[in-house]
Amino acid sequence: MPAKSKAKSKNEEPNEEEVTIMTEEMLSEASIEDLPGVGPATAEKLREAGFEELLAIAVMSPSDLADQAELGEAVANKIINAAKKMANIGGFVSGSDLLERRREVMKLSSKVSTIDELLGGGFETQALVEVYGEFGSGKTQIGHQLAVNCTMPLEDGGFDGDVFYIDTEDTFRPERITQMARGHGLDPEKVLERIHVARAYNTAHQMLLAEEIKRLSRGLNVKMIIVDSLTSHFRAEFIGRGMLANRQQKLNRHLKDLKQLADINNALVLVTNQVHSKPDAMWGDPTKPVGGHVLAHASTFRLYLRKAKAGRRIARLVDSPNLPDGECVYQVTEEGLRD
Ligand code: ADP
Ligand code: MG
Repeated sequence: MPAKSKAKSKNEEPNEEEVTIMTEEMLSEASIEDLPGVGPATAEKLREAGFEELLAIAVMSPSDLADQAELGEAVANKIINAAKKMANIGGFVSGSDLLERRREVMKLSSKVSTIDELLGGGFETQALVEVYGEFGSGKTQIGHQLAVNCTMPLEDGGFDGDVFYIDTEDTFRPERITQMARGHGLDPEKVLERIHVARAYNTAHQMLLAEEIKRLSRGLNVKMIIVDSLTSHFRAEFIGRGMLANRQQKLNRHLKDLKQLADINNALVLVTNQVHSKPDAMWGDPTKPVGGHVLAHASTFRLYLRKAKAGRRIARLVDSPNLPDGECVYQVTEEGLRD
């Protein structure tokens, strides 16, 4: 078997002459089999190692790709070069094109004026927002509230959109949605119909659900994807130093899928995250969010939640690309989030 696959990958050596540069549209449709010389055997190796997109391959170093996908380094090098050309890596777009895309950005109102102000008007589409904090700090409450608000009409600060909710901790409660919908004078039935919930049982399932959203969203106006919690299964399954690299690679893959959904649908992705429960060598500082650099880089906005006196809550904006860091105070009531 190994001899056979070796022979095969030799035949599959990519020929750079065949490379065509793809437009963005072609690229979103392109699969790794479109790389010259990548046949079924090499494609399978790449997929097994988590490389499903040209871009993911294009940014690798030959030795890392060779290691992870169990390919020869020369083959890996050629595949990377072909992927780079096809993905037009290093292709610049004009600032005006970017501005055009930024103009499509919409902002979802939390219906809490202090939170909206902190975020410069609301929760942006084309962004990945990470909400982190201790157990009971109100992360799931934010998820529920924004799911409700997402279904509201545009003129009321909503997106008139559908929501996909990946629930990893079994804490989604339709009853809570009903309370919050009533709190804004909405018909709870109609709101619940637009929130599509799936319970994820482990990381593989969670990642699969995110991939499925692309297919399931046809015919829907998907404006928000929630993963509550993004990291709990990853923490539970990948234990010990030796698993760290593997965990981060999987998490990275998952975040890329989520970010792609945000871009394709002009939608908001909201993920919740825990803080380190105790200081230790593997998990680090107890007040820091888990997920490491992979998550820190993927998040466009990070909100740190904590409880304050008299039932009040504090949200702190951390590391925004275009807004000042700051804090706001709000409340969680029976009707939902309030000033
Ligand atoms: P996390 O997801 O960060 O662990 P949650 O979002 O589940 O935390 O927050 C739980 C808290 O939300 C509860 O401790 C309570 O203070 C508040 N909460 C939940 N449901 C209601 C409700 N119906 N009315 C008022 N407050 C509520
Ligand atoms: Mg929760």
